[in-house]
Amino acid sequence: MNDTTPLATAPLTHVTASMEVFQELKKTQTPKPVTITLQINPLLAWPHSMRVALLHLANQNGLFSDYDTFTEFKKQMETLRPIDQMASDWASQFDKDSDPWKIIKYATSSPKQVVDEPPYSCCPRCGEPVWGSFDHHDKPQLLELYRKRPYPEFCLKCGQRFKYDSGRLSYTAAIEYKTWERRLSREAGADQPSLTEV
Ligand SMILES: [Zn+2]
Repeated sequence: MNDTTPLATAPLTHVTASMEVFQELKKTQTPKPVTITLQINPLLAWPHSMRVALLHLANQNGLFSDYDTFTEFKKQMETLRPIDQMASDWASQFDKDSDPWKIIKYATSSPKQVVDEPPYSCCPRCGEPVWGSFDHHDKPQLLELYRKRPYPEFCLKCGQRFKYDSGRLSYTAAIEYKTWERRLSREAGADQPSLTEV
């Protein structure tokens, strides 16, 4: 590993999505899952966030009638064919309405504030925790993960880009049910009375 190369070459990350192939299935058989893995640079929001967004859409909608078609799709995804060509040629694998415009809009959506303050922030689009779930990590562990990657450019699950204001990650602390629910769960783990005890 060469760590001396500047900025744009952060450690690469793998993102994986699975799809289904229906070739030669009998009525009772379930479709066989197949996967595509992309290597992305988490510091290069543009264009890697769009690749992750496309992969996420394929993960949600991709269904293939045969392996040859899937193999061709996988090859084009992995060789980073231009997004607009992917969206027009494979629209049905990304969107239920097969609408290329919707696919491109999803992949290029503008940066948004994350939900809740770090290190508990979640992606505003898919809800994935940015630094890991508090169900699996306590606060010191989350803070450690936060310190290792304090400036996330985009969601590694759905490709949503995150908004920064004057160099600070912008977050919404708006009181909404989900945010409160998570906050209460965190506090239940600390030595504080929860609402049910009051
Ligand atoms: Zn997301």
